[in-house]
Amino acid sequence: MAATDTASPAETEAVAASLAASLRPGDVVLVSGDLGAGKTTFVRGALRALGVAGPVTSPTFTIARRYEDGRVPVSHLDLFRLDGLGGEEPDLLADELAADRVAFVEWPEHAELDDDVPARVVARVRLEHLGGDRRRVSLQGRS
Ligand code: ADP
Ligand code: MG
Repeated sequence: MAATDTASPAETEAVAASLAASLRPGDVVLVSGDLGAGKTTFVRGALRALGVAGPVTSPTFTIARRYEDGRVPVSHLDLFRLDGLGGEEPDLLADELAADRVAFVEWPEHAELDDDVPARVVARVRLEHLGGDRRRVSLQGRS
């Protein structure tokens, strides 16, 4: 497990960019941490490095956003409010966690991921507050 302490959003984005270089379609990255710890900031850094140009914002109210303009198609999921989805949840997750896309998942602990997904999890990222603008970015798996 590699841990990097960052002092700005840009530094967290840079850690994400180095992970992004290794990502291929079908890869799933789980991103954990408290509210405001920097999960979406991390994903933004990764998406920039993958060539996504537009705004990258939290998909909290939509569960998932898709980005098709980078070097690989990407889904960005935030499962914080997944409980409200009822029966649609398994289908939605299957679509977004498809083998032809890279997927970043915030709050992965809020859903049971399908059986084929764990094998495609190439990295687990944990973000922790260290006070002020400092964060610890711990990366398990590919880096
Ligand atoms: P989450 O998705 O975990 O709720 P966000 O990425 O949306 O968190 O928000 C993190 C907030 O903390 C942003 O406002 C960001 O600018 C700020 N921030 C300050 N320092 C850092 C840092 N070192 N790394 C990441 N974000 C930081
Ligand atoms: Mg977020």
